[in-house]
Amino acid sequence: MSDEAPPRWHAETLAVRAGYDPSEAANAAKPPIYMSSTFAYASARQAKDIHEAYFDGTGPEVGRTAHIYARLGHPNLDMVETRLAALDGAEAAAVFNSGMATHSAIALAHLRPGDSMVFSRPIYGGTNGLYTGLMPDFGVHHATFTDGCDRDDVMAAVDRALALGPLRLILIESPANPTAAIVDVAMIVAIADAIGARGGARPLVVIDNTLLGPLMQRPIALGVDLCMTSLTKYCGGHSDLLAGGVSGRAALVGPLRLLRTTLGSHLDPYTSWLLLRSMETVHLRAERAMENARRVAEFLRAHPKVAEITYLGFLADGTRERAVYDRQCSAAGSTFSFAVKGGEAEAFRFLDALRLLRFAVSLGGSETLITHPATTTHYALQPQERIAGGITDATLRLSVGIEHVDDLIADLSRALDAI
Ligand SMILES: *Cc1c(COP(=O)(O)O)cnc(C)c1O
Repeated sequence: MSDEAPPRWHAETLAVRAGYDPSEAANAAKPPIYMSSTFAYASARQAKDIHEAYFDGTGPEVGRTAHIYARLGHPNLDMVETRLAALDGAEAAAVFNSGMATHSAIALAHLRPGDSMVFSRPIYGGTNGLYTGLMPDFGVHHATFTDGCDRDDVMAAVDRALALGPLRLILIESPANPTAAIVDVAMIVAIADAIGARGGARPLVVIDNTLLGPLMQRPIALGVDLCMTSLTKYCGGHSDLLAGGVSGRAALVGPLRLLRTTLGSHLDPYTSWLLLRSMETVHLRAERAMENARRVAEFLRAHPKVAEITYLGFLADGTRERAVYDRQCSAAGSTFSFAVKGGEAEAFRFLDALRLLRFAVSLGGSETLITHPATTTHYALQPQERIAGGITDATLRLSVGIEHVDDLIADLSRALDAI
């Protein structure tokens, strides 16, 4: 189902074109939804060849698009995977029915009892649960770092992990949810290379690219092995579906697809179709949301009841973080956090006074969402884990949408007055 895109196409063009060829579907200009759980074989010989291609990667059906059963793959999934790989600039992509299904598959595919892994803080609450709650039960150890621009801080975590077992995975979330803290991707890749050069296996470098998404940060070009994205967020873009994806070299993505067959976490045909459609406009939505976010951030920074704000566009010149940001991000995005002066009581009064902004978890939708991480998205963390990640009782996370910015600022202004 893929039409090979000439490399000269820009991301905006790939977002519209990559992954669908009308000649394969009765010349329908837009893709049909293949609502079928199973696929008919043309002959007994072809059935055997298709299975050989799927499970062994050999034989005459390799590279063809024949399908077996929707849990193993289906045409709408092929389309969305081809488009995601094109946007990420990767050889291949695998798409799952949520971001967490994607993270879980990466963990289960690449970590074995006795192994260790390292991750950056703050990190998405679900990811934290996976590596501090579930994986330890399977004998996988972890260590964490909080300053992803400081080599010593990262190396201290690496050394702690190596003392626990072979280091197989370094997972970074950058910018991080909810504070937009950034990790120096090139430095992490260099550290992984150095560990490999010391004789042990080189750990895989995986980034969670959800906060900037495929258009404003291209981690594959920065040298990461796997680029994971919660497609629920900016790519889905309308807060009406859940999906996740991971892209990278075909040799790394293939095993994730096979594991997905066992876990049963493929994305269904209808949601794949919806996601493919949403990807066509992701850059338009992201650009408007970012323009709004800058105006909203400037308003909040100047407001006397706001104690601090972590908007990436405000990183000061001359700082390490600013240099890293300039190297690896092409824009500041539209999700950031700020703290009101005071604590939980002040944050709650502010939230309950909002009329336009929706108080809900998630981010990257067309509507502006606000949440209180300490009591919602990051509720399950230990208090010291929250503090280490820069989340206080007064922290609020804002995902700015595409409404008229004056309406957003008026609502924020009224709610701040009500504290
Ligand atoms: C939402 C999110 C996830 C999880 O994605 P789901 O699609 O909700 O499973 C992972 N990482 C980050 C940074 C997120 O914001």
